[in-house]
Amino acid sequence: MSAKWKKFLSYYRPYMKGFITDMCLALIGAGTSLVIPLIIRYITGTVLTNGYTGAENTILLLFLLMLGLLAVEFGCNYFIAYVGHMVGAHMEYDLRNELFTHYQKLSFRFYDDQKVGSLMSRVTNDLFEITELYHHGPEDLMISAIKLIGSLIILCTINVSLALVALIPIPFMIVFATILNRKMRRTFKKNREKIAEINTRMEDSLSGIRVVKSFTGEDMEIHKFTEGNDMFLASKRDNYRYMAIYHAVLWCITGLITVTVAAVGATMIGKDALTLQDLIAFLLYINNFTEPIRKLVNFTEQFQNGMSGFERFYEMICIEPDIEDAPDAKLLENVRGDIDFTDVTFSYGGNPTREANVFSHLNLHIDAGEYVALVGHSGVGKTTICSLIPRFYEPTNGTIRIDGKDITSVTQKSLRQKIGIVQQDVYLFAGTVIENIRYGRPDATYEEVVAAAKRANAHEFIMELPNGYDTDIGQRGVKLSGGQKQRISIARVFLKNPPILIFDEATSSLDNESERVIQDSLESLAKDRTTLVIAHRLTTIQNAKRILVLSENGIEEEGTHEELLKKNGVYAGLYQTYS
Ligand code: ADP
Ligand code: MG
Repeated sequence: MSAKWKKFLSYYRPYMKGFITDMCLALIGAGTSLVIPLIIRYITGTVLTNGYTGAENTILLLFLLMLGLLAVEFGCNYFIAYVGHMVGAHMEYDLRNELFTHYQKLSFRFYDDQKVGSLMSRVTNDLFEITELYHHGPEDLMISAIKLIGSLIILCTINVSLALVALIPIPFMIVFATILNRKMRRTFKKNREKIAEINTRMEDSLSGIRVVKSFTGEDMEIHKFTEGNDMFLASKRDNYRYMAIYHAVLWCITGLITVTVAAVGATMIGKDALTLQDLIAFLLYINNFTEPIRKLVNFTEQFQNGMSGFERFYEMICIEPDIEDAPDAKLLENVRGDIDFTDVTFSYGGNPTREANVFSHLNLHIDAGEYVALVGHSGVGKTTICSLIPRFYEPTNGTIRIDGKDITSVTQKSLRQKIGIVQQDVYLFAGTVIENIRYGRPDATYEEVVAAAKRANAHEFIMELPNGYDTDIGQRGVKLSGGQKQRISIARVFLKNPPILIFDEATSSLDNESERVIQDSLESLAKDRTTLVIAHRLTTIQNAKRILVLSENGIEEEGTHEELLKKNGVYAGLYQTYS
């Protein structure tokens, strides 16, 4: 058995009890539904032909028996629908958890190439198809097989020639149902794609609603949306047309079988080749016979869909995170904060347009507790250098060490816990102020959060918010100003309290006043920690003891502000442009 199949079947394991109960009930339900027509045949035949004396009692008994059987069938149907679906829901729950957990493990490089919308649709749409197959598949197969084989055997024992008459339309029915099922599934798939498109459009448009309005793009958005919605309608039209033909024709074939059997059966009764009770039994069985065929045809399609959904799931699960802890990775502890880049070469790789190295053979040393500024033209690779330290990306070549320990020899978790990053675009989660600050350390007390907020110069404005620390800040913090968001993100880092800090253009998008306040809190945060600052406005880093100037050739210049200005090189050029 292939690994994929093993994985596919493994999801049944925790729910074997429920699944087996479901299958047993399906077996019993299908069995009882086969017995009832036999009892009716017995009543109409044996009981009635034996004369009426004493028949009432027998009939009453058999009636009660049939009521009992119906009750059993009712119970089975109820539990199959309930237990079966719950088994499916549990399996879907497991699949979804596994996929989401897997998403959390994948690295930056993976997300660089993905659309959030499509990752989400894998968690919602694809999984539904799989679980439908998981519980309906075996159930339908079982019920259909029993009903089909059982009723076929019973029909043949009653009368072979009449059974053959009932069988004639069956091949046509199978061919027709198969063809139409395929067409319907195709339109269903198209429908889902259209819905996914509509969702992606809508998400994009609503997330960017502020841009839409500022460019007065509402009409264009509505137009684009309506286009997608129209396509949805068109695909629904095909969908329902096929569905209407399918149901009408299958219903018609079933009717045709009934009518033909009735006519042929009546003729046979006339010739004494058949009894009335046999004809009645026959007619009662016809449904037991056509319904499983419909279900089996359905199953082949369900199987294909479910398996292709599972393949998409499996492919995703098989993607190994490209950065993993070494098997013997240790915890990074008691960090002083020396950072060393030795001969580091890096390229984003994978995509031809990114083949070029962002930098090659870079050497860099930062002492523990040092405050170092990194400057250079936009796109030269400053952010990239910073994302190598927490191991968001792996260098193509060379080593990066913290306190002399290769960062690939320690766990990513312990490494990242020691590094605090403040960036230009702040990402805040939907929720309250306190929840967002606590992201820095989930077990922090209220007092610790307030202390962190005070040090980040955020306490005052937070207290002025309608609900203080419990104020809801809207999706991505839309209810706050840029400077306020940045102060919350700094409070988050204060709470985390890491020995190494990276400020990546943390104040670049702010107005002068907020910049000054935030510059203050950044400086108090940087105290006694190793700090790497990237600044766009060079005025903010003039006081740095050491400024590194990055160019296409690596670290091109190094020194204090005054020394570098005297050199009259790259730094002096940047200084004239940006301040
Ligand atoms: P800086 O921060 O100095 O402005 P970056 O480090 O962000 O520059 O980018 C350096 C180069 O790498 C740029 O040419 C940019 O286009 C490219 N780059 C940045 N991020 C990615 C990414 N995720 N995938 C591919 N290329 C990237
Ligand atoms: Mg940058």
